[in-house]
Amino acid sequence: MSLDSHIESVLWTPDQIAARVSELAAQISADHSPLSEPLVLVGVATGAFLFLADLARSLRLPVTVDFIRAESYGSGTVSSGSPRISSDLKLDVSGRHVVLVEDIVDSGSTIACLIAHLEAKGASSVSVCAFLDKPSRRKVHFQLLSKGKFYRGFECPDYFVVGYGMDFAELYRNLPYVGVLKPEHYK
Ligand code: 5GP
Ligand code: MG
Ligand code: MG
Repeated sequence: MSLDSHIESVLWTPDQIAARVSELAAQISADHSPLSEPLVLVGVATGAFLFLADLARSLRLPVTVDFIRAESYGSGTVSSGSPRISSDLKLDVSGRHVVLVEDIVDSGSTIACLIAHLEAKGASSVSVCAFLDKPSRRKVHFQLLSKGKFYRGFECPDYFVVGYGMDFAELYRNLPYVGVLKPEHYK
């Protein structure tokens, strides 16, 4: 069974994604070299798993990798707005430069919660690298401390998108492109 027929339109193809991920990796590498200690990549599970894998392989820096999980969505398409950390880091990030790797920043509440959490753990800097950004839906205008930067792959129009890690009800994550789900598959 293929899920391609559930997709109304493709927004970014695998080639477009690969090209943009290389650019992001080059930018992050340039901004963080030289570093005295490895950069800490913190993937936001589960949606960032493919993006993190591609980004990490393109970075020309020593990195360590960990994952964190925050829940707010359930299986619907609208955020409940109050995320909580349901699975914390294994690595100690105090005194370290951290890049939070996210699939998509929508209302901003999840990333704001995670930034605050990593800052409270004493990270020297927290940057955000979001594959997609939907600024039109922002409700929480998160702030990064002085050395933190916001990197984003693409600005996303206000559609519910799936693929390249992103799900609806845990499906579609392994599609190699990003597409808009046909409404009949989430209504
Ligand atoms: P926020 O807290 O910024 O509203 O959204 C956080 C999470 O909601 C994102 O990290 C992502 O996992 C999920 N999300 C937001 N927009 C979309 C979307 O268009 N498609 C999918 N599959 N997930 C989304
Ligand atoms: Mg996410
Ligand atoms: Mg999800």
